[in-house]
Amino acid sequence: MLNTQMKLKSIGCCVDDFISSVPSVTAELFVSDVSQYVVFPGFCDVHVHFREPGFSYKETIATGSAASARGGYTAVCTMPNLNPVPDGREHLDEQLELIKKDACIHVYPYGAITVGEQGEILADLEGMAPDVIGFSDDGKGVQDDDMMRQAMLRAKALGKMIVAHCEVNSLLRGGYIHDGVYAKANGHKGICSASEYEQIARDLKLVEETGCAYHVCHISTKESVELIRQAKARGVNVTCETGPHYLVMDDSDLQEDGRFKMNPPLRSKEDRLALIEGICDGTIDMIATDHAPHSAEEKSKGLAGSAFGIVGIETAFPVLYTYLVKKGIITLEKLIELLSTNPRKRFGIPAGQDFTLWDLNKKFTVDPDAFMSKGKATPFTGWELDGECLLTVCDGKIVYKCK
Ligand SMILES: [Zn+2]
Repeated sequence: MLNTQMKLKSIGCCVDDFISSVPSVTAELFVSDVSQYVVFPGFCDVHVHFREPGFSYKETIATGSAASARGGYTAVCTMPNLNPVPDGREHLDEQLELIKKDACIHVYPYGAITVGEQGEILADLEGMAPDVIGFSDDGKGVQDDDMMRQAMLRAKALGKMIVAHCEVNSLLRGGYIHDGVYAKANGHKGICSASEYEQIARDLKLVEETGCAYHVCHISTKESVELIRQAKARGVNVTCETGPHYLVMDDSDLQEDGRFKMNPPLRSKEDRLALIEGICDGTIDMIATDHAPHSAEEKSKGLAGSAFGIVGIETAFPVLYTYLVKKGIITLEKLIELLSTNPRKRFGIPAGQDFTLWDLNKKFTVDPDAFMSKGKATPFTGWELDGECLLTVCDGKIVYKCK
């Protein structure tokens, strides 16, 4: 089942034996004789929200990183929609201090593209460059073409990537779920697919013009997949991610509950199938969770009134293993490429002595009350999934161990 690139070794031992051998293991994939316990290189999520500084009632770096370790992650990249927004040295230092103090895994912050993510003045990209993984205004699209062009030119000169949340504000028209069958049938305001793919199309032209390394966040529409597929065929320096929820759910799964609300929204079945095709043919390079915790109160106001965003870092691997690997859509090696190899390669994040050990035969029912994240809003509540994380090791240290 597992390919030769991932060097196999039979460990044939119980978890406690494995733990005692941790200091001596290296970044290879191990599998036991009974293929029950499997060790993977630590997962890497290039798109999470840990909410500090500014919104520690939603999540903290301590709770977010602990939840990540439980999900098998040893490296994450945090989005800058914080307070203060890391848009210059001083604000970034405030966040870096918290990361140094509280993170149990590797946490790499993004710096904002524009001051306060307001889209009006370029942030101090030069000042932040030594300590950020890239630049993003995640949560908002950069509306002004010339602003994005300047950002790309400066990011390129600094050897950094632009990581774009693509959204055309003038096309939103107050929408909050996909502008499709469910929205029409239930009287909701829809977000059209063009609001995403039109900005991707604009950015791809700017990438060709500037030569900047460019990554698209959470693609959700079939048109986005096709635009990126064509751009890659032309040799454009572009990669992209989608989220687990966009691959296993669509707007036919929506319920009148805030835990089904995220941005971009769950799209149509056609879009979902196009995303799966994009995963299979390599157009989509990686899967990122867009782990976006909010308080129970903020998520209690239905589809129209709740905040955008769901948690996902503790369920990503079991969801994808159960619904993509076990159903024969992708192989386990492919899933590990999407969750670890590809994001690490594109973002230059080494796996080092980072591993996660899983029992793939263990079944469980998703119960948000058991999450280590402060955020409990997930569309996967009650789902029966396969795969339990037994242990996660970061830099040779145990950062999660199942009780
Ligand atoms: Zn986003």
